[in-house]
Amino acid sequence: MPELPEVEALVRFLDDRATGRTVVAADVAQIAALKTFDPPVTALVGGTVAGARRHGKWLDLAVSPSTAPPGAHGAADDALHLVFHLARGGWLRWSEKAPTTPVRPRLGGGGGGKIASLALRVRFDDGSGFDLTEAGTRKRLAVHFVRDPAEVRAIETLGVEPLDPAFTPEVLAGLMAARNQQVKGLLRDQSSIAGIGNAYSDDILHAARTSPFKLTRSFTPDEVARVHAAVGEVLGEAVAASSGRPAAELKDAKRSGMRVHGRTGKPCPVCGDTVREVSFADRSLQYCATCQTGGQVLADRRLSRLLK
Ligand SMILES: [Zn+2]
Repeated sequence: MPELPEVEALVRFLDDRATGRTVVAADVAQIAALKTFDPPVTALVGGTVAGARRHGKWLDLAVSPSTAPPGAHGAADDALHLVFHLARGGWLRWSEKAPTTPVRPRLGGGGGGKIASLALRVRFDDGSGFDLTEAGTRKRLAVHFVRDPAEVRAIETLGVEPLDPAFTPEVLAGLMAARNQQVKGLLRDQSSIAGIGNAYSDDILHAARTSPFKLTRSFTPDEVARVHAAVGEVLGEAVAASSGRPAAELKDAKRSGMRVHGRTGKPCPVCGDTVREVSFADRSLQYCATCQTGGQVLADRRLSRLLK
């Protein structure tokens, strides 16, 4: 699933390419992906893209409607927002020459397995455009078309942006003290810190030399500061590495740039120990025992549950 760095790069790409363009077509292919009905997606047509921005892992394309009074173009107040979350198998595919073949709306999944199926297509007046696609059979791609992004509850309840100056070590300390939980869970909790998911939380905890299961209230101020610094370092490097890349390259950039996430069995880039994995029902985490747990091997959660 794309996380903050990839979404930030996609947003910059989209802002750069689409701002000022007029929407000539907006077609929903996967009816279940569209979570709102008012305004209708057809209200995008004739509108001018005012810009793109990010909220956590959400992308927000602002479009000033064609019916806006003269002089109101670019004003954020009257803009409509196409807000979407790419979920696990979702992606944005940019085309300089978007297909003009009619899009057939469907109710069912379709395109199961690894082949991505079209969910939404937007075309611009210069022939360019983008497809929102989703691979896999469990459809989770969420597209909202709203007057205000805050109408989307998951956006309204987002926590602090981790690359924002407002995210200080004190703020992190407050979040860690608020509820005693595994630090990995806190980092992934969108209502506490926005934009970090399973992949970057693994790498942040590796950079902070911290066990993913360490309870947040057991951290010393120095350890909190180390996690805080690791958040900025890991996300900052990933944003720098991915920005300016075309959308199509971002997924591979993420894969090749990770320290421990998705690298089970490979050597830790810091100490050379083997990267280990803890499996859960629907996901897994990776860590280095030497760097993060004082050499202790963490129990596999699936197995240990079976053994009880
Ligand atoms: Zn290591």
